[in-house]
Amino acid sequence: MSLMVVGSMAFDAIETPFGKSDRIIGGAATYIAWSASNFCQPIRQLSVVGYDFPKEELTVLEDRGVVMEGVQIKKDEKTFFWSGRYHMDMNTRDTLDTQLNVLANFEPIVPESYQGAEFLMLGNLVPAVQHSVIKQMKERPRLIVMDTMNFWMEVAHADLLEVIKEVDVLLVNDSEARELSNEYSLVKAARKILTMGPKYLIIKKGEHGALLFHGDNVFFAPALPLEDVFDPTGAGDTFAGGFIGHIARTRDISYENMKTAIIVGSAMASFCVEKFGTERLRELSKADIEARIRQFQELVNFDIELV
Ligand code: AMP
Repeated sequence: MSLMVVGSMAFDAIETPFGKSDRIIGGAATYIAWSASNFCQPIRQLSVVGYDFPKEELTVLEDRGVVMEGVQIKKDEKTFFWSGRYHMDMNTRDTLDTQLNVLANFEPIVPESYQGAEFLMLGNLVPAVQHSVIKQMKERPRLIVMDTMNFWMEVAHADLLEVIKEVDVLLVNDSEARELSNEYSLVKAARKILTMGPKYLIIKKGEHGALLFHGDNVFFAPALPLEDVFDPTGAGDTFAGGFIGHIARTRDISYENMKTAIIVGSAMASFCVEKFGTERLRELSKADIEARIRQFQELVNFDIELV
């Protein structure tokens, strides 16, 4: 199994109704790597950071089988910075600040050793960069999964549509699905988005779970009802990491296996929100993850006798 992960590595500053963080480590590819490395190693990481990104943060991930050859370190530029504030419902947030810094002129270079990757996870990043990575792959990966966000729909809409054409699975949240399709109904939105390129569409609905659409089929994975949610940042990326990690581990890209993969993704996301930033993901054991996946099984398992 070989998995390549592309996305931002960042500093975040987060405000929730329950607390506030200073600059902490974040970024889409960071969360994806923390999550996916529980299922699949090595992971070939492609990203960019500035001089201010702590070396130890790369080392802890390397120790978990994340290869950093494709992570450029810009000696005289700052790391990407994002800051957001969550509303009381913890499902919606406002972006307070996005400082692209190293992302502004990022030209990704796919190292020779990354060629031949079977699975490609395009985490949230400049759409043109995501596209450039696809174009640099000499052999098309078996499955290309892409995540994005409303920010790129607003500042790089045309580029975004070009990448979407090239991918197999698109991951968006409910408001992004509506924005992308101009449809309020998620069923109509999904139908429209599935004509834009991807064969599979995952719509994340925060604490209300996630939907997987494929042709005329729909599958639903709930979110675990949690007593405390401290910080939803990175939940979507952690979900993506669990999803692609499971697919890469099993090497099965069928719709049936994608159903399991969205349960694994939901289980991983449920950990992410329990503490600030990547904190909770750093302390997880295999047993914790297995127990949580069992909880999901119990959550949706029921018997019925129909007369
Ligand atoms: P999520 O909560 O799953 O949507 O992901 C939040 C992470 O995405 C944060 O750690 C941010 O650093 C990162 N992020 C926020 N905005 C962007 C952006 N425009 N491009 C790439 N990454 C971003």
